[in-house]
Amino acid sequence: VKPASFEYHAPSSAQEIVSLLADLGEEAKVIAGGQSLVPMLALRLAVFEHLVDVGRVAGLRGIEQRDGSVWIGAATTQAAIEQSAKIAEAVPLLARATPLIGHFQIRNRGTIGGSIAHADAAAEYPAVALVLDAQMETLSPRGRRVIPAAEFFTGTWSTALAADELLTGVTFPARRARCGFAIEEFASRLGDFAIAGAAVAIELDAGGRIHRCRIGLFGLGPTPQRASGTEAALAGSGIADVAAGDLGQTATSALGSVQSDLHASADYRKQVGAAMVTAAWQRALQEAVNA
Ligand SMILES: Cc1cc2nc3c(=O)[nH]c(=O)nc-3n(C[C@H](O)[C@H](O)[C@H](O)COP(=O)(O)OP(=O)(O)OC[C@H]3O[C@@H](n4cnc5c(N)ncnc54)[C@H](O)[C@@H]3O)c2cc1C
Repeated sequence: VKPASFEYHAPSSAQEIVSLLADLGEEAKVIAGGQSLVPMLALRLAVFEHLVDVGRVAGLRGIEQRDGSVWIGAATTQAAIEQSAKIAEAVPLLARATPLIGHFQIRNRGTIGGSIAHADAAAEYPAVALVLDAQMETLSPRGRRVIPAAEFFTGTWSTALAADELLTGVTFPARRARCGFAIEEFASRLGDFAIAGAAVAIELDAGGRIHRCRIGLFGLGPTPQRASGTEAALAGSGIADVAAGDLGQTATSALGSVQSDLHASADYRKQVGAAMVTAAWQRALQEAVNA
């Protein structure tokens, strides 16, 4: 199957991209790695007369360590993130999530901005962004704005981005002392989207108790979700007081609607999600204790 014909634009600045999106209106779409958009175009699930490529804009690529945080340009490939020593050191959860995305051929083309803007409910990067409280930086004809991850993912494949708004970068807080991170997922085949997955971040206090924690689930609803009630209940607990075996059930029992589809029933997804929470909790805790 071939896409409907389109005009290809390759601007050299973010400002130019935004001007094109504003001028061309609903007939235009940003293309990054094309790993999600091109299959949709080829199957004619989407048709756009104009594709505006972000790949030629140097300012949209790169990984920069800033004061207590790490900025990643939206057009930075997943492969560049996977190979980055800075990311492995400062944002280990992102580093560990990346090899779980598809296959290396996909990660060679796919970008962090594309993954986050596409907002697949089973994708790893949106869940990591949510768990780490990442900040999405955007540019539109109305100027720049920063959208916290908690406000960014609004529904199935939908986000807070306006049609004429470009995601320019994502900022993650750099890891602090006494922290541990883990991501676990189950997919039917290596490289497939996860049936369900969990990302966990734990920060201990100086006395070795849980100062705060984040539990994110993906593949279990229209967007990645945080088990906020469970997180709040765990804050201040001694690590020996947390029954990791029950934690998955507790975290998934409070979730909203979980979808059944060809791949798995809602009940099965919840059970897998619970097992992933427990496994991720145990690994993250071990790292935090040894940090
Ligand atoms: C076989 C296969 C398996 C895969 N498995 C996984 C997986 O396990 N986990 C996973 O997370 N992903 C998976 N993917 C998807 C992959 O991660 C894609 O790379 C990603 O979803 C989209 O990134 P992209 O750069 O290719 O974006 P594109 O496909 O080019 O664009 C995707 C969407 O994002 C928009 N967009 C892109 N960049 C921007 C920007 N800077 N600002 C605003 N909007 C933008 C586009 O307009 C489009 O709507 C898989 C893909 C394939 C083909």
